[in-house]
Amino acid sequence: MSVSSSDSVARFRFRRTLEQLANKAGRGTELISLYVPPGSRIHEVLANLREEGGTAVNIKSRTTRQNVQDAIERVSQRLRLFKEPPPTGLVIFAGAIPQNGPGSERMEIYTLIPPEPITVGFYRCDSRFHVEPLLALAAEKNSYGIIVIDGTEAVVATLKGQRVEIQKTFTSGIPGKSRAGGQSARRFERIREQVTNDYYVRVGQHFNDIMTKIPDLRGIIVGGPGPTKYNWAEGDYMNYMLKKKVLSIVDTSYSSEMGVEEVVEKSGEILKGVRYQEEKQLVQKFLYEIGHETGKSAFGEKNVQKYLEKGIVDTLLISEKLEGQRLLLKCKNCGAVEEFRGTRFEADAVKSSLTTRPCQKCGKTNLGVEEESDIVDSFVDFAEKAGTRVEVISEETEEGRMLRDSFGKVAAVLRYPAN
Ligand SMILES: [Zn+2]
Repeated sequence: MSVSSSDSVARFRFRRTLEQLANKAGRGTELISLYVPPGSRIHEVLANLREEGGTAVNIKSRTTRQNVQDAIERVSQRLRLFKEPPPTGLVIFAGAIPQNGPGSERMEIYTLIPPEPITVGFYRCDSRFHVEPLLALAAEKNSYGIIVIDGTEAVVATLKGQRVEIQKTFTSGIPGKSRAGGQSARRFERIREQVTNDYYVRVGQHFNDIMTKIPDLRGIIVGGPGPTKYNWAEGDYMNYMLKKKVLSIVDTSYSSEMGVEEVVEKSGEILKGVRYQEEKQLVQKFLYEIGHETGKSAFGEKNVQKYLEKGIVDTLLISEKLEGQRLLLKCKNCGAVEEFRGTRFEADAVKSSLTTRPCQKCGKTNLGVEEESDIVDSFVDFAEKAGTRVEVISEETEEGRMLRDSFGKVAAVLRYPAN
């Protein structure tokens, strides 16, 4: 059972992009956010933009007016590249962002194709970018199965992101506990057992059919008000592959669709708990290798990078707090390459001081930027080349905080001892 795998990386990257956008601020009310949902007509959106551009003429501040008009023009240019919006829609952010104090504004433009369809369409001009509708999409989007079962009825449902779909409902047909006159108690009990078993089997067959057709099913939650859920979940009704995916069996106050709603409400906590458990295990595996001096562990950016390049990292653990830039500088004189790692700010300082920065090998000041990347992206790229599993670890567990504080925010379990 696994709730994570490398989609912890995809979600993390999307979330981080949104965070970066959310942190940008304009000098005035001049940053544009444009949401184009799937199915929109591009020429209509362009017409609206022209209208907004017309309104912008009334803006009093000359700089702001100019910036807004420029941003609208840039957004329109981007938009014209599309005949129609992609299937999940399109979001464009544009505006003049101060780079280094007032007067240093530079026009920045970002086009995002959402990972899931957006349902909203709007134009905003504000002193910030509006990323909120996309934040919801950064949340987990895997599929889960839900069954709520008691002695009277059962409901099978699926949960994908926030969307719940009822797949099938059943009634048990199990007779009540009081028997009709004339039947022997034993015979009545036998019939009752038979009907109960038939009901469990019937629910199981449909449940198996429905769940095995979901390609990315990540887990199953079983709920219900009474003991029936245990009898059913622990009996031989679910196929064994699905049984392994049961994340939790929870008590609900209600059966039927109300019970499904209860399970969905609890699912957030359940899934978080499952993921935290998994994160703990991942870090503990690394701690085990260190503690037993197996030689199969590494931590810290430089060390881990070294083993990634050798292709011997099995699992790469990245703290969600890891950030920064990686630069590869190449000397145009002697060809030597040096690596720089640091904050975005430090990287910018290095880039602007290249004309006075001597090559570590030949001493000439002739360095150029060969490569520049976000540190996390850089690690993930190296990992992908070597088929390394990558997991982003939150700081919600003790183990996650150890990774953050004691191991330089990045650690690796190696395929075999390094030496
Ligand atoms: Zn050199």
